[in-house]
Amino acid sequence: MQPDMEEKYEGITTFKIGEITLKSTITCPHCGHQATETMPTDSCQYFWECPSCGEVSKPKQGDCCVFRSYGDHQCPPIQQEKIVAKKMLPICPS
Ligand SMILES: [Zn+2]
Repeated sequence: MQPDMEEKYEGITTFKIGEITLKSTITCPHCGHQATETMPTDSCQYFWECPSCGEVSKPKQGDCCVFRSYGDHQCPPIQQEKIVAKKMLPICPS
């Protein structure tokens, strides 16, 4: 038997444990072209070159990653953070 990958923590329905979406459909802010890209698992991608118009996009101000600005999924480190944040109840240090 495989480990139960369907097990859910409270409040989490989108993500399975240990499973993060690595594909993101990114929309070019210059020409509107959409491309599905595989995201790096341990880092953010700062530049993205549109295969249609060739323009190199950078994240919007305040974003770490082009997928965060223009993709339909956030980059894996952000997804991981959300999973961890939801698993742990907020603990007030006081
Ligand atoms: Zn483009």
